[in-house]
Formats: sequence, C-alpha cells, structure tokens
Amino acid sequence: MRIVAAKKILKANEQTAAENRERLAAERIYGVNLVGSPGCGKTTLLESLFRRLEGRASPAVIEGDIAGQIDADRMAKIGVPVVQINTDGMCHLDANMIAAATDDLDCRGVDVLVIENVGNLVCTAGYDLGEHLRIVVLSVPEGDDKLVKYPAIFQRSDALVVTKMDLLPHTNFDMERVTGDMKRLAPEATIFAVSAIKGDGMDELADWFVETKNTTIRKGG
Ligand code: MG
Ligand code: ZN
Repeated sequence: MRIVAAKKILKANEQTAAENRERLAAERIYGVNLVGSPGCGKTTLLESLFRRLEGRASPAVIEGDIAGQIDADRMAKIGVPVVQINTDGMCHLDANMIAAATDDLDCRGVDVLVIENVGNLVCTAGYDLGEHLRIVVLSVPEGDDKLVKYPAIFQRSDALVVTKMDLLPHTNFDMERVTGDMKRLAPEATIFAVSAIKGDGMDELADWFVETKNTTIRKGG
C-alpha cells in the first residue's frame, strides 16, 4: 500500500512539473534546477555565474532551504529577484512548491529561473520541478566516489559542475575518475571543472549556459 501511495504522489508531481515547464516556456523563461550536497558551493557558483551573464541573461532565483534565508539574502544583495522557500524539514523541493513560488516572483524582463534545491544528493533526484536543465554540483572536498554512491542524481542531470578546483592540490580527488563515472552514467551530459571564487573555468560555463538558454528559448522550451 505504501508503495502505491508514493507512486501516486510522484505521478501528481510529474503532472505539476509538466505544467510548470509549459508556463515557463510560454513566458520564454529558461528553467534550471541546481542540485548538490550542502556546502558544495551552489550559491557561490550562482554569484560567480551571474556576474558573467551580464547583458546576456536576466536571472531570477528560487532558493530552497529547510530554514532561514541566508542564500536569498545573498541573491538580493547582488540585485537578483529572489523568493525563498522554507521546506520546514522537507529535504527536497517539489513541483507544487515551485508553482506557488513562481506566483510570488516578479518575472518581468527575466529569461532565466534558477531553482537552488535543498542540499541533498538523494531524493532531489526523484522530483522533476518543471525545469529545462538540471545541473548537479560536486565539490572537490566531498570526494570523487559520490557518482558511484549516489548514481541517480548524476544519471538524471544534464550537466556536472565540479567546484572548488582550487582545493585539488590538498586532496586525493581524482578528476579523471569523476569524468569517467559521469560519462558512464550520463553520456550526454556536459562536464565542467571550476573554481567559483578564483574564476577558473567560469567563462566557459557562462558561455555554455547562455548558448543552451538561447537554444531552448528559441525552440519554445
Ligand atoms: Mg546555497
Ligand atoms: Zn527529500
């Protein structure tokens, strides 16, 4: 009985996610779901990325956190329209939360909506939010074994961004292992290695981001 109930919830989520995707496409907004562990550098990545999008994209953000509004404050500080979702203990966002949050967001002139998911490599994999693109973030200090241990989230992502590459000399992180595992799990995915604070690899990521946004919006989602 429990399995049936869980499936029903996921099915309802898929329906709402499809509606979210249509709505974004109708408003010519590129939807991005950003996932990764707590502390992998999702918000820092966004700060660094958005600086490089100036004149090429106008982002808005939905921040998902169990509590607090630290990340939303950081987005507001750099002038990005933002809505904070507090999940009150829930460890992932779902499509219903995104539908409600987009009602609260002023999307005039916006062409990118980044949803920073709750830090979690497990159940975020199972919830389509209605995005066009899913980016999974893995930071060097987390270790190079995470793709083998949490395959679903990597399998279901369109891009992998390895962050904190500036810490590489202080660890035994094997980038070749990560690249090989990602190619096996998601052969179509694009892989980036960056340092958001030093800037290494960020221009390539920004150029690719703008290109995929323009292609998706042109196709109408
Ligand atoms: Mg964050
Ligand atoms: Zn969860």
